[in-house]
Amino acid sequence: MDQENLNQPAGQPQERKSADWLEAITPLAKRLNCLEMDKIADVCINEIPRLIGARRVSLYILDESSDILHLEKNNHPFLINNIVSLNQNPPSPMVAAVRSKELMLVNDMDKHTRPNMVKTQRAFSENYSTKSCIIAPLICHNRVVGVLNLTDKNGGDLFTPEDIAVLELFRQLIGASIGNVKLFEKTQRQAKTDGLTGMLNHRTFYETLETELRRTQRYGGKLSVIMADVDHFKPVNDTFGHRAGDAAIKQISRRLGACIRQIDVAARYGGDEFAFVLPNTALEDAVIVAERMVKAVSETPIIFEDKELQLTLSVGVGQYGGENASIAEVTKTTDSALYAAKQAGRNTYRVVSKQEPVPAHS
Ligand code: GH3
Ligand code: MG
Repeated sequence: MDQENLNQPAGQPQERKSADWLEAITPLAKRLNCLEMDKIADVCINEIPRLIGARRVSLYILDESSDILHLEKNNHPFLINNIVSLNQNPPSPMVAAVRSKELMLVNDMDKHTRPNMVKTQRAFSENYSTKSCIIAPLICHNRVVGVLNLTDKNGGDLFTPEDIAVLELFRQLIGASIGNVKLFEKTQRQAKTDGLTGMLNHRTFYETLETELRRTQRYGGKLSVIMADVDHFKPVNDTFGHRAGDAAIKQISRRLGACIRQIDVAARYGGDEFAFVLPNTALEDAVIVAERMVKAVSETPIIFEDKELQLTLSVGVGQYGGENASIAEVTKTTDSALYAAKQAGRNTYRVVSKQEPVPAHS
């Protein structure tokens, strides 16, 4: 706890017995022991304030990759910041608390003066009934994963040492739960994606294709699939080494990802092969995407360290949605169009017709 802010009020309200506290805390600890952010946020916003008699509460979750706190849930009847950067200078009290990892009790927000600290972004200070607040960084494995802010103690009282003790306990429990949720989500993401490119992996591509195919068959519409393979990629590894090959795959995956819409699905299908599902897309539009992909690779060399690698791409594209189409058939026929593009001399695309690939004009 931040020692500078330990000024407690003289008269304490009636004390709870330890058994009462345990009775109140145990069910909440049980509810927090879960892998659902919604449930954790619900305890934070609806239960913990009641425990210590605070009226206003906000929960922020830290995105460590950007050092930005995102508002997860709150019960303020007015707008509060949706995002707060940890890089602000001078820091607001919330940012200072996150940096110190210490719980901070501020008895008078208006008189809160710390060197180099802004007097908080209390743009809405008139909205609060009291000037005291608790800023509780949520801790998991000694790292901050979020912040719980509580203010407006009932009756205008200041927060008590008991309130602080309870919050000290909960910020560890909540922190551990949020840490678990993040770890769980990361593991799930990793199981679905390819480590090098961040695109979906082979298995997840099949699952997505199956879902989209069924949706198209049920509700109608057109679904297109694209398969793309880098031309003569083996020599890249042989000549420049595997690191150069990896860098090339990564850069190509980004370029191909930039050729599709947000609702389209991109996967790394194999070594130097990529696959895309384009829901609600007719063949003529998918062909435009295929053409764009071919150009995206051939028109700009791949840069690896001080080298320029001139690569090209072959692409197969098809439209599906017929009643009997299966994922095996879809991938087989799109792959055969890709093979046709390779046969045609590479650095081009070919389109699947119902029976067999038909050369496109490229
Ligand atoms: P083609 O034009 O017929 O496609 O010729 P190709 O040399 O690209 O042949 P193919 O697609 O069959 O071979 C892909 C090669 O990609 C095989 C392997 O050396 C390389 N490769 C596959 N996965 C990776 C990877 O993760 N990293 C690197 N560096 N190379 C990979
Ligand atoms: Mg290849």
